[in-house]
Amino acid sequence: MKKILIILGLCAMVMPSSSYAEILSSTSSASGATGTVAGGIAPIPILIYHSVRPYYPGITNLVKEYTVPPDIFDDQMKYLGDNGFTVVTLDNLWEYFQNNTPLPSKPVMITLDDGWENQYIYAYPILRKYKYTGIFYIYPGAVGKKHFLSWSEVKEMQSGNMAIASHTQTHPELPKISDLALLKQEIAGSKEVIQKEIGVSVKDFAYPFGAYNDQSIKTVMESGYRTARTVHTGVKADSSAPYTLDGIIITGDFNRFVSLVNK
Ligand SMILES: [Zn+2]
Repeated sequence: MKKILIILGLCAMVMPSSSYAEILSSTSSASGATGTVAGGIAPIPILIYHSVRPYYPGITNLVKEYTVPPDIFDDQMKYLGDNGFTVVTLDNLWEYFQNNTPLPSKPVMITLDDGWENQYIYAYPILRKYKYTGIFYIYPGAVGKKHFLSWSEVKEMQSGNMAIASHTQTHPELPKISDLALLKQEIAGSKEVIQKEIGVSVKDFAYPFGAYNDQSIKTVMESGYRTARTVHTGVKADSSAPYTLDGIIITGDFNRFVSLVNK
């Protein structure tokens, strides 16, 4: 986990070499949906959680950065409701992108990465309590392993009004994969596996470590996803760039949380 976390920080800065428009225009097999995106930039913080569990003796500062204790997670969720925020989903965002369907005032999105089982144990009941939909980016390579969600937990959460999205098959750094068949297996393959397991269409993607390049974007588009989330800290979702959505990694620092969601 430690290694993963170090890489996460490093890869947050990876950017594609050509402009987004160039990638879009050069991809003939892009879905029709991309071409019909309505204009608009939604001011919407997309919050990113990793582990939701109590801190434990000996926890390193690095791991702590990616862990939010359940009581603080609850406080953060409560803060959103108490301060006029409305938790929205990627379906809502897509409706806005496609049809200009208005978003509620102060929209916010809650995403949880990597399929840690602690998200089912601690975060899911809190999300249910506040009637919020969380978006869980999972990768099938970890499902069923120790400390990770099982497919039955994934299915239970999906039935419990949570959204399930793809985070590749094995959580690699996509820009390091030069074999296109392997890249496709990671991106399109994971979509197929999750759909088969839960019986629901998977439309959204998140880049492991937030790392992507032109080829990653192109493959995500060609695989039939409608959005992809990065870890570029920002609070704007731009309809002209649905494959590079911003996201904010949330920590257990409540004051930092308040300042970020109010940016
Ligand atoms: Zn990840």
